[in-house]
Formats: sequence, structure tokens, C-alpha cells
Amino acid sequence: MTIMTSAASVPIAAALRRAGVVGVDESLRRRAEYSSDASLYRVMPAVVVFPRDPDEVAAVVDTCRSERVPLTARGGGTSIAGNSVGPGVVLDFSRYLNQIHDIDAASATAVVDPGVVLDDLQVKAAAHGLRFGPEPSTHSRCTIGGMIGNNACGARALGYGRTADNVTELDVVTGTGDRLRVGTNGAQPSMPVVSELERLVRSRLGVIRQEFGMFARQVSGYSLEHLLPERGFHLAAALAGTEGTLAVVCQATLRLVRAPAATALVVLGYSDIAAAADAVPSLLPSRLIALEGLDERIVRIAKRGPGGAAVPELPRGGAWVLAELGGDDRAEVGARADALVREAGALGGRVVASAAEATALWRIREDGAALSARLGRHGPALSGWEDAAVPPERLGAYLREFEALMTQWDLTGAPYGHFGDGCVHIRIDFPLSRPDGRAVFRGFLTDAARLVASYGGSVSGEHGDGRARSELLPMMYSAQALDTFAAVKGLFDPLDVLNPGVIVRPRPVDADLRLASASIDRDRAGLRYADDGGEFSAAVHRCIGVGKCRVTAASGVMCPSFRATRDEKDSTRGRARVLQELANGSLPGGWRSAEVAEALDLCLSCKACSTECPMGVDMASYKAEVLYQRYRRRLRPGAHYSLGWLPVWVRLASRSPQLVNRVLSGPLAPAAKRIAGVDGRRPFPALPTRTFRQWFARHQAAAGAPLLLWVDTFTNHITPQVGVAAVAVLEAAGFRVTITERPLCCGLTWVSTGQLGTARKVLARSVAALEVPAKAGVPIVGLEPSCTALFRGDAAELLGRTPAVEAVAKSVRTLAEVLTSADGWQPPAMAGTTAIVQPHCHHRAVLGYSADLALLARAGVDARVVEGCCGLAGNFGAERGHYDLSVAVASNALLPALAGAPSSAIMLADGFSCRTQVDHLAHRTGIHLAELLAASASDHG
Ligand SMILES: Cc1cc2nc3c(=O)[nH]c(=O)nc-3n(C[C@H](O)[C@H](O)[C@H](O)COP(=O)(O)OP(=O)(O)OC[C@H]3O[C@@H](n4cnc5c(N)ncnc54)[C@H](O)[C@@H]3O)c2cc1C
Repeated sequence: MTIMTSAASVPIAAALRRAGVVGVDESLRRRAEYSSDASLYRVMPAVVVFPRDPDEVAAVVDTCRSERVPLTARGGGTSIAGNSVGPGVVLDFSRYLNQIHDIDAASATAVVDPGVVLDDLQVKAAAHGLRFGPEPSTHSRCTIGGMIGNNACGARALGYGRTADNVTELDVVTGTGDRLRVGTNGAQPSMPVVSELERLVRSRLGVIRQEFGMFARQVSGYSLEHLLPERGFHLAAALAGTEGTLAVVCQATLRLVRAPAATALVVLGYSDIAAAADAVPSLLPSRLIALEGLDERIVRIAKRGPGGAAVPELPRGGAWVLAELGGDDRAEVGARADALVREAGALGGRVVASAAEATALWRIREDGAALSARLGRHGPALSGWEDAAVPPERLGAYLREFEALMTQWDLTGAPYGHFGDGCVHIRIDFPLSRPDGRAVFRGFLTDAARLVASYGGSVSGEHGDGRARSELLPMMYSAQALDTFAAVKGLFDPLDVLNPGVIVRPRPVDADLRLASASIDRDRAGLRYADDGGEFSAAVHRCIGVGKCRVTAASGVMCPSFRATRDEKDSTRGRARVLQELANGSLPGGWRSAEVAEALDLCLSCKACSTECPMGVDMASYKAEVLYQRYRRRLRPGAHYSLGWLPVWVRLASRSPQLVNRVLSGPLAPAAKRIAGVDGRRPFPALPTRTFRQWFARHQAAAGAPLLLWVDTFTNHITPQVGVAAVAVLEAAGFRVTITERPLCCGLTWVSTGQLGTARKVLARSVAALEVPAKAGVPIVGLEPSCTALFRGDAAELLGRTPAVEAVAKSVRTLAEVLTSADGWQPPAMAGTTAIVQPHCHHRAVLGYSADLALLARAGVDARVVEGCCGLAGNFGAERGHYDLSVAVASNALLPALAGAPSSAIMLADGFSCRTQVDHLAHRTGIHLAELLAASASDHG
């Protein structure tokens, strides 16, 4: 079957529509979004389809059969081996087919759609004291269909088995177009495909008994052992791990397990990773739920990252194992954990004391793939050989030989993974951009497969074979076993429609690789991309597809637009995929293409991805760059002139604020909004009669340590009361507050509208003015978080890491930072005060919110932090076309938090835009931290 070109999208899309399929999208942008998963591969699909029910799925399969077009099922698209990419139709189950139909506590089973995200099921199951056993690190966004497809395992498969062991029945559509409900022996339908399969198995009993089911993590190939008569011909289990090559799952009945009432986590240190692996057989008898290995290099990277401070202290060693124990009796589990530490024979060890610390350790382990990707010598370390498994008792010896093999090929990587099951994860710095890169990739994979086979292992231990390993299957299986795979495929999918190129008749491991080329970097970039070798292309290729931006249930902010729409288009990953196509020069129209504009339109530039994405993808910066390139020397949208130049307009308006207020709230307002590109439903903010600077000019400064208050546009011209309060608080804390002689601006509004040339000029002027006090060690306090964040973050990207920029970045502080480090300062006592706290996204992402939380805790405030973006995000929510999404984002976390708050609760929000959104949507007045502190001090004073 040949790769579909874009011209081929048209007939299949039309055929699908003729068959009554509704959610068909053949646009280039959509196809780019689905052109990769979390693997190294890029295969542009012809069409993406979002099925709404099993009938539609069946119609898609029938159409693909009659049109001879490949069909690849997809859930969260977090596969690492290229399992969920394909050249024909990609069928995304996650969008609509995502309902949990039933949880039966008595039989401990669940009936679910394939697009259900595992964490959503876990939350519902937990209400009955149950859980789904296996749990990949991607549990927050991977789907049940994808877990079944890959036979996913994860850390807790040690205690609860693989997905195959926890599937009872499946409703499927096979490649023959048959709709079947399959289960174990007694429950098979009498369809020809099933009886022929039984006949085939009976004729191959010898090879199946000899080569399959040898150890738990033999995930490669088809798991034919489940079809043995002595195993009950469990067809549902056998279909798990077939990667959508035999059938498409429309509904699943799953076995749930009782969640242990008590768990304990033990961390043990060893000299190196092979020594940690050697210890595995002696640890396994301790009845563990999970036993994970972690190399010191991964922990080092985690410590260097934005959440580095949260990395717990680990016992002595160059590698660690995390061992989780569970049971119903807390004391008994604790005693077993203590015994494990005593008897493990490790260099050091301890029982992890708190749930928070355990969460922090699991987070490092779960982010292992992305963290270890940062270890590459020639760019990100890559997937390709990332989940091979050997019987656990041979793991240490295997790892030593594996390290030697990497050295032989001049490759490096830091192993980690599910050591209790003998499964090793690793990312390797394959030099793919070198002329011999592909040959090295192929050669190493072949040698590594040979090595793993010599240990009786499996080239895939949980991620499936996909495009990365299917070609390697002859290293571990006999010709007769491979022939049996082909025969099974022939029964279920004789036309080779379902995920072709995977497992049977494989694509070469080095075909379809997603390589970064840098054609776009010929254009002069607006930003520096200092951490990406100066290349926009390298920056956007940071996205390796792990899909953390698709998380909707967990804490954090990333990605507000995806949380609101649940559309891959509005995720950081979807956007990055489109930008990767742009960078590689494959989008007609380049910077000005409609695809790029659509992809970025709903990005709020919140910067959450810059820290919450384990790869540090900074979509706000890329959006600014795209807008810069797109509109260079061209007419811009109205909002760029109005909201982008806001600092200038409000300065002019403040000459006669009353007149301006009258005009902007009168009959001319709608026309003014139309011209300004502002949504008609957004009111213009009212200007005060006196600016902060005017107030300060008459203010008698107090004596004390010098401190420069950065007077941003919003504080000066719109909310001077925030500045007045800040001066009161800072003076009370012992500072002599000064401000710059002239009004200055950080340039934020020009950055977010991509007017980077002007932004640079405006910012350079400010940095020059701040350089002297900064170098003299005077703290510079910013009140508006996004302005403060700009000095600490984007300034270096705009102006370079000059001594002036670095000095200013070091001196700029938030109010909470300066107060919590001021000698002898104590916050006013505010016990009994409840605050709904909306941190500004840039505050959270760039500056960090911990000082604010510490301050509020010291003051005794019951601070209930909103886990989400307010939705206004500077100019974003004010712009025409963004209102609905802005409200939807606010409805995710902010509005429910306010609705659930006591009426006496204070709404605390330092960001002007956050307060504006609260006022507009919830009719409540938000206050700045400075105002809260000043008011409470005067109450108590
Ligand atoms: C950072 C990271 C960590 C990971 N950690 C683990 C781990 O600990 N353990 C583990 O097992 N895996 C892990 N994985 C791999 C992957 O996340 C899991 O295998 C996951 O279960 C895939 O789910 P998904 O919804 O993303 O599936 P997808 O990637 O969308 O699809 C997976 C396979 O299932 C098929 N498929 C999807 N839906 C259907 C359907 N309805 N019917 C038939 N076939 C279907 C696809 O065609 C594909 O072959 C990790 C991946 C990443 C990026």
C-alpha cells in the first residue's frame, strides 16, 4: 500500500462522507496535527476522522476496505514506536467516544468507550474502592483503546498485570468488516473468522507453546499464548497488543482490582543502574506493586529544571529503585516497608515520609522519557529503542552488555523503567542529522535486538512494536512464529487495511523518520532561541509528542485552550506539529499560511507550556515569532494597533480621562470596539482621574532601604490604587520607594502581538534605565506579573543575555518575593480570611508562585488556588473572535472556584487581566496582593 499524498485525501474524504461519516477533516492543518505521535516517525495521514458511535466506526472500516485505504486507530497518540500514525485514515477515538458506561462494583468490572482517558476511569472507579490495574506513565492522557492497542503496562503492572490480563470482553470491528463481541472461550461468537482462528491455533500449538508467554513483558508480536486451549482461547486478551492491526475496538469490558487501602514507597540507592538491576530478584519476594529503576542522570536533569527545588533528597547512590508496597493494613504495610529498607543491602534507603514527596518522586519517574530526552549530546535524545525487556533475573547482566553496546556505537543514554518486570526505558542520542545517522540508527537497533533476544527478552516490553521494532521481530521469533502472525493477520485483515506496516509486513525501522530541517531559519528571527542553537526550527522540534498538554483532569494550567475544547488543534502538541511542518518548509504559504494562523489563533500565550511541558515547549514565544514574521511590513489586525499599542493610547487618554471614559462607554463605544478589533461584549476599562505617577509625585517618600517600584502601564493608568497600596506596604516593610524618572514600559503588549521590533526598542529603553539601580543591588519590584515576568524571561530572548539584561533580571522581584525576604517583616495576621487565589499564568510559569503562597500561609490566609488560567490572558480574551473560548477557559476552574467560595471570600489576583475577567464574568472585585496586605495592615494598625 502506498503513502497517501494530499491529492489522495479528497476521494477518501468524499467516500467517507458518502457513507454518512460526519467528523471528517482532510485539511492540511489537521493532517499535520496527526502526522506524528510520541515517536520519531512522521506519516502524514490523508484524513482524520472523529467517530461518534460504533456504527460510524464500522462505516469507516467498510469505506477503507472498499477504497483500499489504510486505517489507523488512535487514542491519546502517546505511542513511542510510531504505532498510532498512518498514511490513510486516522480514527481519533478520544474526542467523542469517551464515555464510561458502567462500573459494577459487585463484579469489579467497567464498561467503557475506547476513548476514555485512564485517569478519568480511575477517578470513577476509586469511588467504589476500585482501580484499573495497569497504569502507564501517561495515565493522565492515554486512552483505554490505546492501552489495549499497545497492551500497555506501566509501573503497577508488576502488581496487577498488563492490559491484556485485565480485559474481559471487547466489541470490535475486524478488518473483514465483522462486528464481534469477543471474550474467553465460552463467550466467542460463531463467526467464520473465529472458527478459522481456532483451527489455525490448533495447527500451531507447538510453536505457540514454545515461543509465547515466556515472561510477563513479552509484548512484541501477537500474544498468541492467550489463544491456547489451556488458557481458554481468550480472544479479547489476544487482541490486546495487536496495535489496531487486526481489529478496531469500539467498547471494552475491563476487570477492575481493589485499590489497596494503604501504600508505602521505599527508595533504595545503588552504585549504578546495573547494580540496582542486580538487586531486583532479591526485592521481588517482598510482594511489591511496583519496582522501578532510575538513573542518577535523570534526577540531575530534573533538579536543573523549573521544578528542581521539589526534587526530594535521595539516598546515597548513582541509581535508585522505587519500591511500592500495598495492603489493607497501614501498620502491616509500614512494617514491610521498614523491613525492605533494612534487608535490601542497598547503599542507603528509606521509606518515603509524605505523600507529597512520593508524588514528587513518581513525577520524576513518569517524566523520565522527556527528562532523559534532554540528555542528548547532539540535540534531544531520541526514542526508537526505549522499552526492551528481559526476564528480570537477567536484567543486571543485560544492562552491562547493553551499556557496552552503546559505547561500541558511540551512543549514550540513561536507563530507567519497570525493573521489577525487566523492562528498561532509555532515550539514546542517535546522530540522525549526521550523513551516517540512519545507518547508525538501523545498525544499533539490529544489534540491540540481537542482544535482547540472546537474553530471552522482547524487543518491546510495553510500548508495542509500531514502526520502530516490527522489522526486528525476526531476531526474537522463528520463521514459523512469524508465519503464524501473517496467517492471523490474513484472517482478520486480509486486505491489509488496518495499521499496515506494523507487526506483519513491517515498514523499515528507518523509514518515515521525523527529522528537523531548518529551512525557515533563513528568515531573520525575532527572538534569539538561545537554548535551541538560535534556531526556531530546533525550538519547535522540542515537542516530542508526550502529550502532557492533553491533560485535563490534573492540576496545572497547561494547556488552557485544550482543556476548554478537547481538540488536538488547541493543544501545545497540535500547534507544535503544525509549526514543525512550517519549520521544515512543507506548508505552502510559510509564515503566512492559513494553517499556522488557525493553529495559533486560540493560543492564550499563557506560557504554562514553557514550564509544565517536560520539554519546555514555549508556545507563547513561537506565537509571537509567527505574528512577527507574518505581519512584517504588512497591515496588521486592528487589535494589534489598539491592544498592542495600549501603553501609548492610555498615556494619551489619561490627559482627559473623564472625556475618554464618557466616549468609550457611550454610543460610540461599539464602533470604537469594532475598529479596535475588540469583542463587543468587553467593556473598556474606566480610567482614573489621577495616575499613579501623579499620586507618587506628591507622595512624601519614607526613609529606608532603597527599592525601585516598576510602574507598569496598567498600574499607572488604570489601577493606581494597586501602586498606592504597594507603596504603603513596602514603606511599612522598611523600604524607601522610588520610581523611574520617566514613564517606561516593558513592551509586553508588543510582544504578545508579535511586534517584536517595537518591543525590542521599548524594552531596551527600560533595561537601560534599570541597569544602574540593578547593578547597584537595588531590588526592583514589579506589580503586574506579566511585566515582571518579561524582565525575568523574554527580555533575554529579545535583547540577548547582555550584562544589563542579566542584572535587571536578577534584581526584578515580585512583591511577595521582596517582602518574604525582608528582614523582620511580618505579614498582618489574617487568620479566618479565605482567599480564592488566581495566580497570573506568567507569574506561575516564569516567576513561580511559591513566595506568594508562603506569604499567605504566614498570614494565616486560607488560600484556595485556582488551578487554571482566567481565560482573558492579556489582549487574548479581549480580541474579537476569542470571547467564547475565553469564557470556556474561565469556566474550567476560575468560575467554579468562585461559585463554590463563601461569600466572604476575597478574590486575590495580581494580574490586571485576571481581575478584569473576574469582574466581567463573575461580577466580583478582585484585589491585588498589595491591596490585601495594605487593607489588612490598616485594619490591624
Ligand atoms: C512519556 C511516556 C511515558 C510512557 N510510559 C508508558 C508506560 O509506563 N507504560 C506503557 O505501557 N506505555 C507507556 N507509554 C506508551 C503509551 O503512552 C501507552 O502505550 C498508552 O497506553 C497509549 O495510549 P494512547 O491512548 O496514547 O494510544 P495511541 O498511541 O493513540 O494508540 C496506541 C495503539 O493502540 C491503537 N489503538 C488506539 N485506539 C484503538 C482502538 N480503539 N482500537 C484498536 N486499536 C486502537 C493504535 O492504533 C496504536 O497502535 C509512554 C509514552 C510516553 C510518551
